[in-house]
Amino acid sequence: MRVIAMSQQDCTELLERVSIGRLACALDNQPYVVPVGFVYEGPNHVYVFSTLGKKIEWMRQNPKVCLQADEVSNRSNWNSVVVNGTYLELAEPQYSSQKQHAIERLGEFSQWWKTPLSERREASDDLSIEPVFFRIDISEVTGLRAQPE
Ligand SMILES: Cc1cc2nc3c(=O)[nH]c(=O)nc-3n(C[C@H](O)[C@H](O)[C@H](O)COP(=O)(O)OP(=O)(O)OC[C@H]3O[C@@H](n4cnc5c(N)ncnc54)[C@H](O)[C@@H]3O)c2cc1C
Repeated sequence: MRVIAMSQQDCTELLERVSIGRLACALDNQPYVVPVGFVYEGPNHVYVFSTLGKKIEWMRQNPKVCLQADEVSNRSNWNSVVVNGTYLELAEPQYSSQKQHAIERLGEFSQWWKTPLSERREASDDLSIEPVFFRIDISEVTGLRAQPE
């Protein structure tokens, strides 16, 4: 197997094909990683929906984040892209138009956030819980590819 760097073009194409990644944030020297659905809008933005919880609370305090996405055929044949960036919560009214844009872009895949949202509302008995839409403002994208010899 050999591992080689992916070009920026190849990284872009992977981020356009793949819609699930792992979002990392950190607080007080403790990393936290969860899978999320995302939409890449190159070259500068990634959009994500979230319910309110630990990752949102952490990113509000430390907006430096990292998103990793991959396509894995097997252990010696894979592509992996790492995106570094900054969390920007698309809060109303300041970011109304950007939030609407995020909803439209994420809605191209599905409106699946309605399910976890209603589950959260049911579990906590709090109907005021709103979904959080956020954007990652990208600062760096790198990619590695493994190929069988
Ligand atoms: C394929 C896939 C796609 C997903 N897409 C999205 C998405 O687009 N948006 C979104 O908000 N969520 C998505 N999720 C769920 C997401 O991974 C989190 O579980 C969820 O968002 C709750 O995260 P939170 O930080 O708010 O956790 P909280 O609800 O605050 O959870 C508290 C605790 O639960 C544990 N926990 C939370 N999530 C996980 C997990 N996934 N695995 C193991 N332990 C966990 C953590 O240890 C944490 O301390 C997706 C999950 C999968 C598997």
